[in-house]
Amino acid sequence: MKYKHMETSVIHEGYDSTQMLGSLTPPIFQTSTYTFDSAEQGEARFAAEEEGYIYSRLGNPTVRILEEKIAALEGGERGLAFSSGMAAVSAILFALTKANDHIICSSGLYGCTYGLLSMMKEKYNIKTDYSNMSSEQELENQITKETVLIYVETPINPTMQVIDLELVVKVAKKHQLLVVVDNTFSSPYLQRPLEIGCDFVIHSATKYISGHGDVIAGLAVGKKDIMDTIALTTQKDIGGVLSPFDAWLLIRGLKTLPLRMDRHSSNAEKIVQQLKLHKAVKNVYYPGDPDFSNVAITNKQMKLAGGVLAFEINGGKKEAQKVLNQLHFIKIAVSLGDAESLMEHPASMTHAVIPVEEREKMGITESLLRLSVGIEAWEDIWEDIQQALDNI
Ligand SMILES: *Cc1c(COP(=O)(O)O)cnc(C)c1O
Repeated sequence: MKYKHMETSVIHEGYDSTQMLGSLTPPIFQTSTYTFDSAEQGEARFAAEEEGYIYSRLGNPTVRILEEKIAALEGGERGLAFSSGMAAVSAILFALTKANDHIICSSGLYGCTYGLLSMMKEKYNIKTDYSNMSSEQELENQITKETVLIYVETPINPTMQVIDLELVVKVAKKHQLLVVVDNTFSSPYLQRPLEIGCDFVIHSATKYISGHGDVIAGLAVGKKDIMDTIALTTQKDIGGVLSPFDAWLLIRGLKTLPLRMDRHSSNAEKIVQQLKLHKAVKNVYYPGDPDFSNVAITNKQMKLAGGVLAFEINGGKKEAQKVLNQLHFIKIAVSLGDAESLMEHPASMTHAVIPVEEREKMGITESLLRLSVGIEAWEDIWEDIQQALDNI
C-alpha cells in the first residue's frame, strides 16, 4: 500500500486523476477494442514489446484501476478482476492444477466451489480431500505425493468456524504447497492472508467489496509472474472478465469498505449478545463471540469478526421457516455483505445440495438460520428478529 492506512488506500490507491483530465471519479472506459496508430504498433502490442491496450478481454483501464486497488489492499503484487467470484475461483484452480493432482480443502465450502471440485474430479481425476485443519498433524496426514495446493475458506460458511492460517502456511511451506484463501467473508480490511504467507487470495466481490448488492464480480490476487500467466491463460481463454461498468461500481463500493465493515461488525456483536439471551435460541455461531471455541484464532488473524453470524433455534425446519416468514424489514435472501440485513435457511437454500448426513456433520441442521447483518441501526435489526423469535 502506498498509504499508511487502509481507509486512505481504498479511496486513493490505483488511480491518478491527473492522468484522466482531472476527473475526480475514474471514467468508465466502455469500449471493447482499442485502435492502433499503425500496423507496426499493433504488432508490437501483440508481441508485448509495447505496453498498451488491445482488446477489453485482455485489459481495460477502468478494470485495471480496480485490479491495482485490490492488489494493494491485500498486500499482493497483481490483482485480476473476473465476472463473478466463481470465475475467479475456477480460473485460479484450473491454472494451478493438472490432471491427477490432489487438493486439500477446508471442510465447509461455498456450494459452487464444492461443485467445481467435484467436476474436476470427474473430468480430470483431480481429487479433493476435506480437512478441519485443526492441527499440523491432521494436515500432514492428508498430504500425498500428488498434493499441489491447500484451499481454505475462513470463516467457513455458514457455521463460521475459523481456520488458523499461520498453521496452514507452516505445513504448506514445509511441503512446498500453494495456499489459496477465499477471503470473501472478511474482505481485506479484516483479514490479509498474503501477509500471513498464503499465496493467493480470492474474493466474491459481489459481497462486501461491492457492499451494495448491485453487482456480481470476482477478484484474485497473487505474485506477479503467476498472475501474469493466469491473465493470459485461464482468464483470457476461459473469458470470465469483468465489465468496465461493474468495475466502476466496485471502485465506488470500495471507498466505504472500512466504514461499512466497522458497522457490520459492531452490529453483529450487538445482535449476538441479544441472541444469546433469547430463550428461543439454542446456539449462536460468531467468530468474535468471546465464548466461541476458536476465538483465539479470530483474534490472531482478523481485525474484527465481520457481519455474518448463524444461530440455531429450538425447534426444526417449521420453526426456522416461521422466523423467516415473520420478519418485517429484514429480507429473506441469500448472499451477504449488503447494506440490508439478509436472513436465510442454509439447509433448504444455500446448502440444500449437500447430502443430509454431510450437512449434519458440518453442523448445518434444520434449525440453523444465517444472518448477514446489515448496516441499519442494530436496535431496529434486533427488534425485528426479536418479534419473529417471540412468535414461534
Ligand atoms: C458468493 C461466494 C462465492 C461465489 O461468488 P459469486 O460472485 O456468486 O460467483 C464464492 N465464495 C464465497 C465464500 C461466497 O460467499
